Amino acid sequence: MPRPMTRASIEAFYARLSAAMPEPETELEYASPYELVVAVALSAQATDVSVNAATRKLFPIANTPQAMIDLGVEGVAEFIKTIGLWRNKAKNVVALSQILLDEYDGVVPEDRDKLQALPGVGRKTADVVLNVAFGHPTIAVDTHIFRVANRTGLGAGKTTDQVSDKLVKRTPEAYLQHAHHWLILHGRYVCKARTPECWRCEVADLCGFKPKTLPPEERKAAAKPKTKKKAVKKAARTKKAAS
Ligand code: SF4
Repeated sequence: MPRPMTRASIEAFYARLSAAMPEPETELEYASPYELVVAVALSAQATDVSVNAATRKLFPIANTPQAMIDLGVEGVAEFIKTIGLWRNKAKNVVALSQILLDEYDGVVPEDRDKLQALPGVGRKTADVVLNVAFGHPTIAVDTHIFRVANRTGLGAGKTTDQVSDKLVKRTPEAYLQHAHHWLILHGRYVCKARTPECWRCEVADLCGFKPKTLPPEERKAAAKPKTKKKAVKKAARTKKAAS
C-alpha cells in the first residue's frame, strides 16, 4: 500500500492532468439527462464503446421514459443484447422509466437518494449523472478510479464508497468538477490495470506506486538474464540428477 499523497502532491497531480486534458468529457454518448441515466445504467460491467454502439440504435427509437415504456422490456432487449447482463438491464431501464414518469413527470431528479432509488442505479451511476448532467462536484468511483486511487496513494479504501468519500475530501475544490473524468481517463489509458505505463506517465514523480514500470524494451532486456540464469540452474539440476 503506497503512502497517502501529500496535499501538495495532490494539487500538482490534478494540475498536470488538467493541463493535459483541460475539458475532459465522458466517453458515453448522450443528449439529455435521461439518455445519460440509461447509458450509465447500461455501462455496468460493459465498455463505453459497446454501450455507445447499442444506444446509437436505441435512442433514435426511444429517448424518453414514455417511449422506452412503449418499447417494452423485449423491445429494449433487442437493442442491448451485445451488452453484458442485458436481460436485467432491459428490465431495469423500463422499470426506471416507469418510476421517472409516475413520480417525476418524466424528469430525471437532481438528487442522489432519488436517483439511487431507481432500479439498476447505484451510487456510481447516481454520482456520474449528478456530475455530468448537473455539474455536481461528485466523484463516481468505477474500477479505473478505484485502482488509480489505491495504487497512487491519492485516496486508498477497501470499497468504492470509501474511496469516493476520501477522494471528495482530498481533491482541491478547483479540481472537483472534472476529477472523475481525469481519473477515469488516466486509469483507462495510462495507469492501466495489468501494467501501469509509468514510463510515460506525467504524474510519475508524485505517485506513490513502487517500483515504477519500465518501458517494454527495458523490461524485456531486464528479463533476459533472469531467463538465462534459470536455464543454467535447470541444466545444473538436470546434470546433478543424472549423475
Ligand atoms: S506512475 Fe505508474 S502507477 Fe503511478 S499514476 Fe503513473 S502509471 Fe499509475
